[in-house]
Amino acid sequence: MISFEYAPLVLQFRHPFGISRWTRTETTSVIVRVIHDGIEGIGEGSPNPRYGERYDSAAAFLRQVDLSGFISPADIEGIMAYVDALAPGEWSAKAALDSALHDWWAKSLGIPLYKAWGIAAQNHLVTSFTIGIDTTEVMVEKTREAAPYGILKVKVGTDRDHETIAAIRSMTDKPIRVDANEGWKTKEEALDRIEWLASEGVEFVEQPMPAAQLAEMPWLKARSPLPLIADENCGRLHDVDALQDAFHGINIKIDKSGGLLEGRKMALRARELGLSVMIGCMSSSSVAISAAAHLALLADYADLDGHLLVGNDPYEGILVQDGRLVLPDWPGLGVQLRA
Ligand code: MG
Repeated sequence: MISFEYAPLVLQFRHPFGISRWTRTETTSVIVRVIHDGIEGIGEGSPNPRYGERYDSAAAFLRQVDLSGFISPADIEGIMAYVDALAPGEWSAKAALDSALHDWWAKSLGIPLYKAWGIAAQNHLVTSFTIGIDTTEVMVEKTREAAPYGILKVKVGTDRDHETIAAIRSMTDKPIRVDANEGWKTKEEALDRIEWLASEGVEFVEQPMPAAQLAEMPWLKARSPLPLIADENCGRLHDVDALQDAFHGINIKIDKSGGLLEGRKMALRARELGLSVMIGCMSSSSVAISAAAHLALLADYADLDGHLLVGNDPYEGILVQDGRLVLPDWPGLGVQLRA
């Protein structure tokens, strides 16, 4: 008998968090616990309004899930195939359950998840730290607060991009990655902005144009002086092949892929296609960020700061030491309730 339960977790942002689409002060995650054989696995999903998700829709989906036909949470492939077939979408609810299954499985083996996957050692990637859209003054203040982090990820896609980047660049020579979140509406506008960003020493650009304009991306890729990383265009495994001619790399998030099982397959496929791999996140507690940090051991870039933007994280797990991601040597995802 596998029992599982779910509950909301309301997370408050340290600062109101803005991207090209919206600004928020708090976000509600869904926490899933899977219990079997005296072992509890935990997972978290962050419902994303971009994909029509809210906590209530995630909970309504999880209410339909019945695991009585499965013998063990270790049957992750079987359980997730059943869960995927129940209803389309609700990726964050699926990610929460998938992560709880992975946590349970690796805990049952008594080892960290990455070791259960056969990864021998951690790569200790430097994570970027995200500067959300705000007034230039506040973005400059956030840049100051980001002193412990070695790479900045700056949200752009408004008519103040030049002012913002110039202000941040005047304060620091750290690598800057830029995320337009679909904010530039034509390929000509995107190319103009990217050429300017290259002159400011930006490392790469995430999702320059709306996902619906994928057909225009090969034009942009052929001309862009900077690598282009797909985010809103890259949800699941079946998206990856179509991105080879349009982008240089992909941003995998468990809240888009529906979990670690799919995310890991995407990372391996991207490698086969010669695409670089970035592991990103939503704003979450340490549960989801620790889960993603195991995937980041297969990646070139990590953007796993979602828990650092939150002021009331009840969990501890992944650490950021000298800007580098370090997973504790605990079984499973490596998370526990903060003492
Ligand atoms: Mg992004």
